[in-house]
Amino acid sequence: MNFIKIITIGITAVSALCLTQTAEAQNLQSVSDYNKAHARLLASQTKVQDQIKLSETEIFANQWIEEEEPEMDIYTEGWDSKQVNPYDQNKVPETKQIDVSKFCIPCPGRVTSPYGYRPRFRRMHKGIDMKLQTGDTVYAAFSGRVRLTNYERRGYGYYIILRHENELETVYGHLSKFLVSDGEDVKVGQPIALGGNTGRSFGSHLHFETRYMGFAINPAAIFDFENKTTHTDVYTFDKKTFTKSRNYAPGSRYKASGKATYRIRKGDNLGKIAAKNGTTVAKLCRLNGISKSTTLRVGKVIRVR
Ligand SMILES: [Zn+2]
Repeated sequence: MNFIKIITIGITAVSALCLTQTAEAQNLQSVSDYNKAHARLLASQTKVQDQIKLSETEIFANQWIEEEEPEMDIYTEGWDSKQVNPYDQNKVPETKQIDVSKFCIPCPGRVTSPYGYRPRFRRMHKGIDMKLQTGDTVYAAFSGRVRLTNYERRGYGYYIILRHENELETVYGHLSKFLVSDGEDVKVGQPIALGGNTGRSFGSHLHFETRYMGFAINPAAIFDFENKTTHTDVYTFDKKTFTKSRNYAPGSRYKASGKATYRIRKGDNLGKIAAKNGTTVAKLCRLNGISKSTTLRVGKVIRVR
């Protein structure tokens, strides 16, 4: 294991840079949203600047960090009346189309540990871990409302659960500071917390989960973290196979058929075509040199890859 120590001279500068990159890449909805988010970020970080002098960056060549993580399932265990799991497993539909087109990657760092079963600890890792420094901003992945903010000493540390308009819930763990409170409405891309190393965590990172009615989906099945986008505009949840999406290869079943084009049918729109072909509206527009408002003619063939 190689460790490179980096002295962080000014955490505000680093964080401001992160915000700039993230905002550009992830469509904060308007200039005023951006300004609000930025002002809020600077205000919230004044104290952090004093506290942090030294931080660590760990560089692992193609090696996941396997650390023991939350044992409890926050949706079924250790909940008081305020936090009871509102979901009845029997009511979860077999399949569900989830609109993930308006998204924000929760932090700019790379994925350091994937979703899935961890043989070493003999349990599931129900989310992914992303690299960050304590004090870095964590952003709301989708618009919605803060369902809870809580602290779990042996598990997630300070964590937030957001419930989203698209019916997903996202979980953010090991935080150092909350920027939102219970019941508050949040916009996609809004700073909701500062990252940290609280709870059962060895080194600053963000533990990030995506859940549908209590079922933990692989966040990498929804997000393409490497390219800071989503694989598709619509994610299809399947109750029987959702845990197998660990090795998700976007569009693979369409590649198998060899089809790179699609003939427009009656009732199609770019969103539907993107969903059918495992791509996004933005990619379709780029491939075909069209915009979201271009009129689609039935029978016309467009590129989908
Ligand atoms: Zn984790």
